[in-house]
Parts: sequence; C-alpha cells; structure tokens
Amino acid sequence: MNFPSNRIGQIPPYLFAEINKKKAEMIKAGVDIIDLGIGDPDLPTPKHIIDKLTEEAQDPKNLKYPSFVGCPEFKQAVADFYFREYGVILDPETEVLALIGSKEGIAHIVPTLIDPGDYVLIPDPSYPVYRMATLLANGQCHHMPLTKENNFVPDFEAIPKAIVERSKLMFLNYPGNPTSATVELPFFKRAIAFAEKHKIPIAHDSAYNMVTFDSYKAPSILQVEGAKEIAVEFGSLSKTYSMTGFRIGYVVGNREIIKALSVLKSNTDTGQFTPIQKAAAYALNGDQSCVTQYNQIYKDRMTAMLDGLKSIGVEVEPPKGSFFIWAPVPSGYTSAEFVTNVLEQTGVIITPGNAFGPSGEGYFRVSLSVPNERLYEAVNRIKQNLKIVIG
Ligand SMILES: *Cc1c(COP(=O)(O)O)cnc(C)c1O
Repeated sequence: MNFPSNRIGQIPPYLFAEINKKKAEMIKAGVDIIDLGIGDPDLPTPKHIIDKLTEEAQDPKNLKYPSFVGCPEFKQAVADFYFREYGVILDPETEVLALIGSKEGIAHIVPTLIDPGDYVLIPDPSYPVYRMATLLANGQCHHMPLTKENNFVPDFEAIPKAIVERSKLMFLNYPGNPTSATVELPFFKRAIAFAEKHKIPIAHDSAYNMVTFDSYKAPSILQVEGAKEIAVEFGSLSKTYSMTGFRIGYVVGNREIIKALSVLKSNTDTGQFTPIQKAAAYALNGDQSCVTQYNQIYKDRMTAMLDGLKSIGVEVEPPKGSFFIWAPVPSGYTSAEFVTNVLEQTGVIITPGNAFGPSGEGYFRVSLSVPNERLYEAVNRIKQNLKIVIG
C-alpha cells in the first residue's frame, strides 16, 4: 500500500484504545462506569456567553467569512485581559492572533518554527499534541523529564549541548496538564534567560491560567522583561469558561512568530466563526463570577478526591491549579496495572501516566470533570471497594 504517508504512519496508536475497549465491554456487562479520564469539563458554559453567541448569530454580516487574523473585538478583549490580569501591554493588531482552539495553534506553531530534523524541547509528561505535532512536522522530540524531585519543572542545564544547538522550539505548560504543577515568575525568568542565550523560542501553553485555587495566581511568561523578544503564550477559553466545544483560543507575544504563524494559518484555515469570537470577547470582558464559582467547585472536588486517595495510601500535595490530580501509583504496580485494577474493582476510569510521555510511568491522572455526585460516588467506591495488593 502506498498510503498513508510516513508522516501519518509513524503516529503511535492511540494510548487510550485498550482502556476504551475495556470500558465498552464493562458498560455492555451493565457496569456503571465513572470516567475520570476525560479532560472535558462537565460544568455548563455560563448562560450570558451562550446568549451572546445566539444574539451575534442573528447578524448576517457575522455569517460571512471571518477575518484571517481574528475579529477586532476578540483581539482587543484578549489584550484587555492581559493588561487586567498581568499588567502586560499587547498590541491587538500584531501581538494577538485568534485560534480555532489553542490546540490548533499549538499544532501549527511547530511547522511555523521548525524544519525537518530540528529538535523540539518537550516536557515529559505533557499534553500529547506537542509530541505529535513535532512528529507530523518531521521534527525530533527531546523530552525534558518532569519529576517530583525537580518540582515538575525542566532542568534546562541537563539538556545535552548538541541538542540545544539543534533546537528550534521549547514548549512549557503551567498550571500543567497532567502534572497540575504550578510555577512562580522566577521560573519563567530562568526559562527566558535560557531561551535568549540559545535563541530557542518558547511556546508557553497557559490553558489553565485561570483555573487556580485560593490565593494562588498563575503568572504569564510575558510578565518577564524581554519575554516578547523570544516567547509566545497560548491561551484558551475552553477550561476557564467551560467552552471546549466552541473552539476558541489565542496566541500572544512575539510579533514575528505571530506573523509567521498567521502566514501558515491564512493558507490553511479561515479563522473561527465570528459569533463565537464575539461571544468569547464577551466572556473575557464580562462578569467573571462564573470563574470564581467554577474554581471553587474544582477545589472542593479535589479535596474530596485527595481524601479518597489518601484512604488507599496515595498522598499528593494539594494542587494550586488545573482540574487534575497527578499521583504516584502504589508500589508494586505499573501505571497500566494500577489503572486496570481501579477500573475492574470500582468501575472508575483514570489515565495511566505513561499516556503523557515515558516519565509519566509510575503515575496516574485523575480528571475532576464529572458532576459532583458522580465524583463523590467515585471517591466512595475507591475508599470502599479498591483492594490494592502491595508486592
Ligand atoms: C485542553 C488543553 C488544550 C487545548 O485547549 P483548546 O483551546 O480547547 O484547544 C491545550 N493545552 C492543554 C495542556 C490542555 O489541557
């Protein structure tokens, strides 16, 4: 067969395939499955945002081809958001670009910045799109291990010199998926210093920038002086406002990178539906009480689940952001074995850590994205039914 291309052929099989098969079998056998594997929040999109979407959809001029670079209201709203949240001034014309979800921009930034054979520095474990986009661009992945010992941040000095020299892009992601790790501004200062020294652009994925708890405030990498010279930051409405299905995100920062990405995009897509962009602008500018309310719900779920895990001997520091718990598997188990045990004994699906990269082995991820009563039911089943045999 002379299809598909080698580029597609090299993409590894979907890591959730095995667990999805088991899930289907168990549902068929009548088991009540609770899926804590998915990263799609159950909380509804706030009504004022949906109302704005339907209102804008009535205007015939919003139904034409959108502008390639994003509608002015959306880009201005992103710039206003950056000034309000971080004190960062952005030119909406040149330093903000609308995306069809941040995933789209993350995938397209790779061929925008690398040529075949170039290296991309990728946190391990991390969001799989960084790795897959690199493979699709015929680039090479260099994994930067994130471990508990290094607080789940990369050790830049540990990257071999020969690889640093051939690297054209570095991804970072805080608050992190799957690790739920958070950082403070000094970490971003070190990252920018490394990037400047070696002329390696940084793409910081801030999908969970506003999903934070208590007094913790996640910094923006653009708060570092000079960051705009070498970095871009991806953001998304998906998690903050439960708008995953809208497909709206943005990239901000270095204008040359943004210009290059918009060249690729203007030859690939034609932007997001204008009513969606206008509803997203309204979300960013409007009443933010939904964000506070949703974060409190995630925080309460997290507290309950941490308590459930503690009862089986798994202890984790309470995360300051994201809606994930990243926990070590009890000793004597691989990630896959533990996840299978949990599924068979409790009907609860969690994700094996190695689905996010080799350094994720020995961990599992719990996503807190099911309604409260299901989440508390899962906690009870883990507490009461899970028999972990050490050894
Ligand atoms: C969900 C997620 C995204 C993608 O968000 P969209 O804007 O919906 O495409 C990007 N990065 C991480 C780490 C995510 O978890």
